[in-house]
Amino acid sequence: MSFYGYKDVIEEGDLVLAFISRNQIKPITVKRGERLNSRYGHFDHDKMIGMKYGQQMGGINDYGYIHLLHPSPELWTISLPHRTQIVYSHDSSYIIQRLNVCSGSRVIEAGTGSASFTHSFARTIGLDGRLFTYEFHEPRYLEARRELEEHGITQNTLITHRDVCNDGFDMENIPQGFDQEGGIQGEAVFLDLPSPWIAVKNLKSVITNKKRVGLCCFSPCIEQVDKTVKALQDEGWSNIEMVEVQGRRWEARREMVRSVDDVVKRLKNIQSRKQMGIEGKRASNVNPPKRKIDEVDTDETPEPFTEKPLQPKEYNPFGKGTRVKEGDSRFDWRQVTKIESEIKTHTSYLTFAYMNPSS
Ligand code: SAM
Repeated sequence: MSFYGYKDVIEEGDLVLAFISRNQIKPITVKRGERLNSRYGHFDHDKMIGMKYGQQMGGINDYGYIHLLHPSPELWTISLPHRTQIVYSHDSSYIIQRLNVCSGSRVIEAGTGSASFTHSFARTIGLDGRLFTYEFHEPRYLEARRELEEHGITQNTLITHRDVCNDGFDMENIPQGFDQEGGIQGEAVFLDLPSPWIAVKNLKSVITNKKRVGLCCFSPCIEQVDKTVKALQDEGWSNIEMVEVQGRRWEARREMVRSVDDVVKRLKNIQSRKQMGIEGKRASNVNPPKRKIDEVDTDETPEPFTEKPLQPKEYNPFGKGTRVKEGDSRFDWRQVTKIESEIKTHTSYLTFAYMNPSS
C-alpha cells in the first residue's frame, strides 16, 4: 500500500480505509486476529487479507457491510485523526495548482499539524520531489512523523521539529539523498501558522533563486492577512493576492414539468372527493344503516373505496400516487440545479505571493 500509487490486493499491514457511511470512514491497519467493530457490523481483518481494494465486505453473521478503500490523500483528509484544524481538499487542490506544484517540485510547509496537506503535497511531488515540513509542538511532531513513516511517505518528505518563527527553516544536517540541490532550495512555500508574517522573514535563505517561487499563507482572519501582506511587501514578494475558496455542493437533477391542465385536474379531483365525502356523511346521518339483531355476518366485505388505478399518463403530479422515477420517459422533465444554502467547508483566506528569480 502506498500513497504514491495503487495496488490491487490487500495484504497484512496495509492501511485500508473502511467506508462505513458517507460521514464515517475508518482508517485501519490490517492485522491478523483483529476485528473492526462498528454499529453497522463487525468485520474480521483476516477476511480482508486477499480481498481487492474497492470490494464490498459483509459483516459477521451477514450483518452490515463496508467497502475497503485504497488510501488517497483526499480520503485520508476526511478520515484522519484530527490533532489540529486541517486543510481540506478544495483548498489544497487549489493551492497546489496556483503554486504550480507538480512532480519533482521542492516544497516547504509549516506547520505540519495533522499532516492533511502533507499527504497531498507528498503525492503530488512524487519520488523526485522533496517536501520539508516543520512542526514545533513535540507530541504533534512525533505523531505526524510516526504516521508518515507508517504510510511510507518519508522517501520524499522530511519532517523537522522546529519553531520556524524563532529558529527559521535552515537545516545544517539535511539527510543524504534529500540534499540533491545543495540545501532546501524551495520552489513553493505553504504557511499554515498563527503568525506567518514572522516566518516570512526567515524564508530568503531556503528558497531557490533560480526560478519563480510561489507562496501561500492560510489564515483564518483578515487582520492576519493584513500583517502578512505587509511582511511580504517588505521582503520583496510580488503579485500579492488574497483569495477565499468557498466550497458549495451543486445538485443537478430533473424536475417534472407540470402544466396548468394538471393543476386544474388536481383541483377538480380534490373537490369531487370532498363532495363525495360530504354527501356520504349526510346520507349516513339521515339513513343510518340498520343492523338487524338476527343479521348474520357474511364473508362479503364491502368494496373498499379506492381510487381508480392510475395509468402513468394519469399520474397526479401534485398528489399521492405511484412513485415516478426521475427522468421517466413517459413524462416531461426539465433540468434544474440547486445549491446548498449553507457553505459547509471550513475555509481560510489564502494569501498568494511570488518571488522572482534574481538575475
Ligand atoms: N496544515 C495542517 C494540516 O492540513 O493538517 C494543519 C496545520 S495546524 C492549523 C498549525 C500547526 O502549526 C499546529 O500544529 C502548530 O503546532 C504549528 N505551529 C504553529 N506555530 C509554529 C511555528 N512557529 N513553527 C512550527 N510549527 C508551528
